[in-house]
Amino acid sequence: MSKQSMREEAERLIRETMQKKVIVIKQGNTRIEATCGKCGAPNRIQVERGQVRVKFACKECGHKQETL
Ligand SMILES: [Zn+2]
Repeated sequence: MSKQSMREEAERLIRETMQKKVIVIKQGNTRIEATCGKCGAPNRIQVERGQVRVKFACKECGHKQETL
């Protein structure tokens, strides 16, 4: 392998790594499974990174609550 192609390979790897990081940042929000305290229905809600308690309304009965 020539020096030129080795450098191109290294640059390609760096670009790929940076693209993966962008994807990771985009996926900073996580989805959690929260059970409704009223009717017990499972609700899939989006939670921002670092947030613990999130307000949501049950999709089944509309009961407003916070995740535990
Ligand atoms: Zn409910």
